Amino acid sequence: MSTVNLTTENDIAFITINNPPINATSHSVRQGIVDALDEIEGDSSIKVVILICAGKTFIAGADVSEFGQPPKDPILPDVIKRLESTTKPVIAAIHGHALGGGLEIALGCHYRIAESGAKLGLPEVNLGLIPGAGGTVRLPRLVPVRDAIAMITGGKPVSADKANAIGLIDAIAHGPLRDAALDFARTIINRPRPLELRRCPPVDAPDDHQWDEIIAGVGKKARGQIAPVIAAQAIRIGIEQDTAVGLVHEREKFVELRDSDQSKALRHIFFAERSVAKFPELDGAAPNPINEVGVIGGGIMGAGIATASLLAGFKATIIERNEDACTHGRATVEKHLSGSLKRGLITQDRFDNLLASLSTSTDYADLGTADLVVEAVFEDMAVKHDVFGKLSKHCKPDAVLASNTSYLDINEIAAKCTNPQRVIGLHFFSPAHIMKLLEVVRTDRANAASLATAFAFARKLGKIAVPCGVCDGFIGNRIMSAYRKHCEYMLEDGALPHQIDDAMVEFGFPMGLFAMQDMAGLEISWATRKRLAPFRDPAERYVALGDYLCEMDRLGKKNGLGWYRYDENGKAHPDPDVDALVIAESDKKGITRRNFDTKEIMSIILDAMRSEGDKILAEGIAMSPDAIDVVMVNGYGFPRHEGGPMFMTQK
Ligand code: NAD
Repeated sequence: MSTVNLTTENDIAFITINNPPINATSHSVRQGIVDALDEIEGDSSIKVVILICAGKTFIAGADVSEFGQPPKDPILPDVIKRLESTTKPVIAAIHGHALGGGLEIALGCHYRIAESGAKLGLPEVNLGLIPGAGGTVRLPRLVPVRDAIAMITGGKPVSADKANAIGLIDAIAHGPLRDAALDFARTIINRPRPLELRRCPPVDAPDDHQWDEIIAGVGKKARGQIAPVIAAQAIRIGIEQDTAVGLVHEREKFVELRDSDQSKALRHIFFAERSVAKFPELDGAAPNPINEVGVIGGGIMGAGIATASLLAGFKATIIERNEDACTHGRATVEKHLSGSLKRGLITQDRFDNLLASLSTSTDYADLGTADLVVEAVFEDMAVKHDVFGKLSKHCKPDAVLASNTSYLDINEIAAKCTNPQRVIGLHFFSPAHIMKLLEVVRTDRANAASLATAFAFARKLGKIAVPCGVCDGFIGNRIMSAYRKHCEYMLEDGALPHQIDDAMVEFGFPMGLFAMQDMAGLEISWATRKRLAPFRDPAERYVALGDYLCEMDRLGKKNGLGWYRYDENGKAHPDPDVDALVIAESDKKGITRRNFDTKEIMSIILDAMRSEGDKILAEGIAMSPDAIDVVMVNGYGFPRHEGGPMFMTQK
């Protein structure tokens, strides 16, 4: 069967695209559409054309196997021009996703109708690109300019409801899509074919002043990523100049960006995220079915993990130390779910059902039917041993038992369990129901079934799961500890906290290391340092500034003082008292302070990340440099458009 098929039903033609899995705009699809249109033009009995897709989705993007190859005619912009200049009206019938080139094809049609669950978007900026087949020119001729800008520069798809509200589609299909498209075709069959979007005026047009504001706003949000700003400028050119000029400009910029470092970096991380969880031991390993999830501890992490489990459709039981803690855990989950309700992500019905799927208890015997349990109690080995002892006693022998520990040795935890081969680490990031990253820690004795179950669980949770081995801090926290040490050295050697943070923000991190520490609270790492003090190598350089701050009761943002001073609105300001403390420490240690510029600061930080990354790879903790990049980008704010610390070394 070819990828494009033409059939007719009386005076209506169906062009059906069948190019699984995503009906990508491969060469055969592009050629097939043009051939079908040629045939349709020659058949005077055909009055209306419906462009529809077989399988799970409408056209959801480009063919990745054609990436990096010379373009083969007909190229997509020409196919779309051909489509829109067809003398007969074409209706795009959309189900699943209409993304990128898929939505651009739909914009080349004269009408669009979509199933209620469909999503429509131009996500090119996520790969460092802009739409390259007329999206920036046609979309603002169909929907208000600000909506077009939001869709193109933000890269997020919109729902069918939103698409309908802004005029992106003409109708929502009720009932089977094909029937709805036929019904719709009957309503327009005698109307003159609408003008191509390319020839329509924009829906509205911002004035110069508004454009300046819009583009500045896009730039601020993009934080160093170039494609969103170039996309906004392309939209402006497409509106203010002749559309032919707009289309040429858009294509030029698309081609230019395709070869840019940022696009290469974004494509790298996109593919790395999709391949990082594939490794040989998982081949053919069957995951255990999961219905019920147990969570030990209903604190910050436990409540987040329970929320994520509920949202993924599992029943969840939180085990806590006493009734008060149970109530607190349930209230935290309820607060998280209310957040989803308020943002319209779940309905009131779903909210009620999710809460009804949550149990809390102080009795481990209630985990007798749990398929997977995540422990998130205090970071203390004795407490963890006690918990896993109880889990060994009360859980099914094949229930997967996971620890969310940040630093403790999970092999040691596993050693004291019955069936240690089912003990693994699931290291979530805070807030656990929101953050995408999950480190799946492979203990020495973990078997393939437990690992497969963990990855299947992660997939259901919508997480990016990265396999890693057991070590102090796994991949992410270990790299963070390494570069934090070098940041602290820089403080003593001449830099100030805000200079280091500014350099990181300029590089593209959402915030610098010291601001982040203030946000997390300084006392937690202080407690860890005190715990580890007896084991510290006396020959190793130790920076005590963080300890001094805690001793002065400067515990971070929550009490208004930390590395920074916080005003009543929670805004951070460099604090001369901290600067003085830092300088005094250098004096005390006899260090002559020197200047660090932004470039040097970042180069020290990146070198520290890479050299720890190399060690992690050599030890087999991370399975590939890609795994390290995925962790740093998704868990630690490393700018996506730089691709990750390991990718940067390959450039
Ligand atoms: P937390 O103090 O907020 O919560 C711990 C909860 O465990 C408390 O509610 C406590 O009552 C409960 N608890 C303690 N002992 C228990 C027991 N024997 N049985 C049942 N419940 C018990 O701590 P948290 O921040 O949620 O951290 C939990 C774990 O997650 C730690 O191992 C931590 O290292 C790890 N972690 C934390 C973060 C983070 O950002 N907070 C991130 C990743 C991992």
